[in-house]
Formats: sequence, C-alpha cells, structure tokens
Amino acid sequence: MSERPRVPFFDYPALFAEMRDEIMAVTEDVFARGAYIMQRDLAEFEQGLARYLGVKHVLGVADGTMGLLLPLLTQHLQPGDEIIVPSHTFVASAAAIHHAGGTPVLVDCGRDHLIDAASVARAVTARTRGIMPVQLNGRTADMDAICEIANRHGLFIVEDSCQALGSKFRGRFAGTFGIAGSISFYPSKTLGCFGDGGAIVTDDDAVAEQLRILRDHGRGSDGKVWVWGYNSRLDNLQAAILGLKLKRYDQYIARRRAIAALYESRLKHVGELLLPPAPDADPDHYDIYQNYEIEADRRDDLRAALDKAGVKTIIQWGGHAIHQFDRLGFTVVPPYTDRMVSRFMLLPMNTALSDDDVHYVCDCIEGFYR
Ligand SMILES: *Cc1c(COP(=O)(O)O)cnc(C)c1O
Repeated sequence: MSERPRVPFFDYPALFAEMRDEIMAVTEDVFARGAYIMQRDLAEFEQGLARYLGVKHVLGVADGTMGLLLPLLTQHLQPGDEIIVPSHTFVASAAAIHHAGGTPVLVDCGRDHLIDAASVARAVTARTRGIMPVQLNGRTADMDAICEIANRHGLFIVEDSCQALGSKFRGRFAGTFGIAGSISFYPSKTLGCFGDGGAIVTDDDAVAEQLRILRDHGRGSDGKVWVWGYNSRLDNLQAAILGLKLKRYDQYIARRRAIAALYESRLKHVGELLLPPAPDADPDHYDIYQNYEIEADRRDDLRAALDKAGVKTIIQWGGHAIHQFDRLGFTVVPPYTDRMVSRFMLLPMNTALSDDDVHYVCDCIEGFYR
C-alpha cells in the first residue's frame, strides 16, 4: 500500500501548497538580491520575533541545538559541572550540555510529561551549576518552582524551548525565564522552515553580544576575532520565509488549540488513555500543542490498528528516554519516565488536519478499545 494514508502524521507538501505563491515570491526576491548570509531579512525576522515575545534580543542560529550550546558556552563550564535536564527530551538537550563541557544530570517528568520540580530539587549537589528545563510538546513547565530552586542554590537557567514558541506560564513566554532560551525551526515545529534553523532569545545585553560573536566565527563587528567561535548562522532565505509565516503564527496556534480541544472532548471518556492537559484546563498555562502526546494502554497494538486504518502516529525519540541510551553512560532510572516510555505516543497534530480527520482518528481509537 503506497497510496497516501487517510490521516498522515505530517503533511509537508500540503503545507507548502497552501503558501506556494508567497513562498516562491519571497524566494525569488532573496535570490534576485543575492542576499544569502546575514542580510536584512534575517535582521527583520529577528526584530519581528523579539517584538512577538517582548524580549530585547533574538539571534538566528543554524538550528535549535546550537541555540542551546551557544548560551551554555557563555557560562564557561568546568569539568564536572552538573546541569540538570529531564530524561524525557530529545538527546540534543543533553548533547549541548556535554559539548559545552558540562555533565548532564537526568531527572524525571510528571504526568504532564514536563520536568518535575521535586525531582530537580533532589538532584541538586555541590557541583550543580544550572538547570535546563525542556518546555516539551508546546507546554511550559511550572517555572515558579524551577526558578525558586535555581534562586535558592544560585543556579543559572538555559531553557530548551525548542518546542514551545508562544507557549506561556503565568503570562510569561517560554524562553524568557533564564539567561536564554532556544527555539527550533525544524520543519515539523510549530514555526517550521525549509531545512534546519533556530534562534536564541535573551534579555541580557552582555549575553546577546557574546552570542552574536560566537555564532559568527568569534568575530566582532570590527572584524576582529575575540574568541574561538562557530559558524552557526540562520540562512537569510530561511529567515525571509519564517518572517512570512510569523505573521500568521497566532492563527496556526489557534488551530492547534482547537484540534487539542476536539481530541479532549472526544477522548476524555476513554479510560485506557492519559491525555495532555486540555487547552483551558489551567489559567497558569497557555499551551501551543507542538505535539499531542498521550499515554495509552496496549500502545503498540493501538498504533498497529491505527496504522491499518490509515492513521499515522509517531513515538518521540524512537521510544527511548535519554537514560536508556546506555552507550552514553547514564546509570539513573527516573521512575515515571521509565514506565511512560512504553506507553507514550503522538496523535496527528498539525494545521493541515481537518475536523473530519480528527473525528476519524477518535472513531478508530474508540473502536480499538471497544
Ligand atoms: C527540535 C528540538 C531541539 C533542537 O532541534 P534542532 O533540530 O537542532 O533544531 C532540541 N530540543 C528539543 C526538545 C526539540 O524538540
């Protein structure tokens, strides 16, 4: 069966087709100007995103992973310095800590699949330097609790907000709680580009200046090299297209929240499932639903049944939390995460889905458990 599934997990061609003419016009304009690296489209996109988030600085970088590494490098980690990070995240979060010279210390998540503050508090040692909360699936963690732990122990915060552009906790945007936050523009992210891309968000002038130098070979505006730097710039073409999509970002998020509300209303009675928090469940959280991550009894059988019915689902990180990659040398076993990885999966969640598609997915799930 090579035909198109009834409900694909993600539909890149459909999302391109929706905006084809505008995207081709922007591309033509950028190419005609020969404006490829660090040009005005990048500066305009950075300013637009800074305005959207109400922050002083946004710096485009090559991808979300570099958006984590560069802020960590400004903290000059020493061998043995520990950074606390959840085990339920993309390996990139921990890899950035490793490459910045630190030791990632893995902690548990709670029922909302976000970093668990009690687990963070227990993991603090004399060697702890910082915390990297991961604002997963488009939801921001309880940052009151995380910031309280950080303040009590004098720790810095670098946020992995790669999945959470526009998400808020108590009215404050993901990415704005610590020294800096990283955003990813990987194609399947809520603001996706046509390849790799990322941005760093910060309110700190001195950190922004260091990041500006680090992302461009260690060079200052005078062309002098100040430190060993990297080549980690966001392509001007990608920035131009992202600028176009940013204008519609609030519409995209509204649609995602409507889909989440529909899933909630259809599936909340299915006792075999644990759903993510509903869009209006809690006034402290504004979720943007990068993903709709559920837990399910008989998960693998459910996925097989859905696949047969033409509904494509995905399991994040290939179904493994970071502590399970034994070649990376971890020995901790965060208990909730360890159980959850045999139960978690993503239902289709993107702006190309129709209400009919969502109802069909829910019909199939109800049918499976009946
Ligand atoms: C997407 C993502 C990243 C960064 O991804 P890039 O592909 O480097 O842009 C980091 N952490 C999490 C949790 C992510 O989902």
